[in-house]
Amino acid sequence: MFAGSNRALRVVFLGSHVDPFLIQEEVPIPELKSGEILGKIRMATICGSDLHTISGRRKEAVPSILGHEGVIELIEHKRPADSGLKKGDRLTFHVVNCCGKCERCKDGLQQKCLSLFKYGHAAIMKNSELNGCYASHIIIHSGTHVVKVPDHLQDRIASPINCALATMISAVSGLNGRGSNRETSAFIQGCGLLGIYGCVLLREAGFNKVFCSDVNVDRLDMVQKFGGIPLQAGQRTSEGPEDSSVDVVIEIYCGSKKTSGTRVCGVRDVISEGITLVRPGGLYVLIGMVHPDSKLDLTGEQIIRKCITIKGIHNYSPQHLDEAVSFLSRTYIKYPYKELFSQPFKLADFQTALKLAQQQKFYRVCVVP
Ligand SMILES: [Zn+2]
Ligand SMILES: [Zn+2]
Repeated sequence: MFAGSNRALRVVFLGSHVDPFLIQEEVPIPELKSGEILGKIRMATICGSDLHTISGRRKEAVPSILGHEGVIELIEHKRPADSGLKKGDRLTFHVVNCCGKCERCKDGLQQKCLSLFKYGHAAIMKNSELNGCYASHIIIHSGTHVVKVPDHLQDRIASPINCALATMISAVSGLNGRGSNRETSAFIQGCGLLGIYGCVLLREAGFNKVFCSDVNVDRLDMVQKFGGIPLQAGQRTSEGPEDSSVDVVIEIYCGSKKTSGTRVCGVRDVISEGITLVRPGGLYVLIGMVHPDSKLDLTGEQIIRKCITIKGIHNYSPQHLDEAVSFLSRTYIKYPYKELFSQPFKLADFQTALKLAQQQKFYRVCVVP
């Protein structure tokens, strides 16, 4: 099944407890309004947050078209002539549309715009809406930042730029040159795609040692290939990390229950490990535990006595998307990014792709219309 030239195919999510929870349907492609871009989805990747939405762990409005990581090909646009955009351009886009005028946008926190719209997360009101990546087409709004993808970056490598990679760029921004007068180290809690990107980003930013740990031991192999030192959760090696020695701890623990034995690592264990490892004056970045079941086991005294900064990162702002494209462009040959992805699945086989993604065998499962 493939939609005709003025029609699009979309996978609609109806809710985690509805049967069937996904349906496929064909809809007309609407006329573009001023500033909009019609893109053909060249490739989409299944992000962990979509898996959480589908399993019901995360609540999102329904019905909706999920999918926000993707590379598009410009079919038509209504942006000004000086935008430099033309038919056939391969683009990545900011996962949020923002106004650019409110106080939050002006503060550089566009992902918290007062009139925010987020692709792949919004309820569809009309039968013509195309606002997620699990579809043949998507309409990009007028306030959404887009960036051209260089020709040498394949679709699958480029697809997670606009969620996983740009989010990690946001997480590590400002860390360049930290503690440059001594040996520096970082500790990443979680070896999913964000953890892998974190290893590369911190190594390239000059960190001497980047430890990366997970309860899922199948995921540790890849860490080394991306410059990190793999650790099973709770493990210490002769290389470290020692208590109170780590400059930056990044939590990307997303609540994975898959373990190599009986041990299940909870939020409490993760935080207490991070607090133990971080050095006085260090930074603790929280990214992964974006769900209500994330109460922390932490005292004010622990933060104060170590002079720790705790920082929350949710999504990213437009400049991080630019940085993400140029970072990948610079490093694509140095690291085996291709190994992170599955073969592409047709959109019509979305359920199969979803099952594979749930098994966590690949860091990202790819879908093509
Ligand atoms: Zn995502
Ligand atoms: Zn705004």
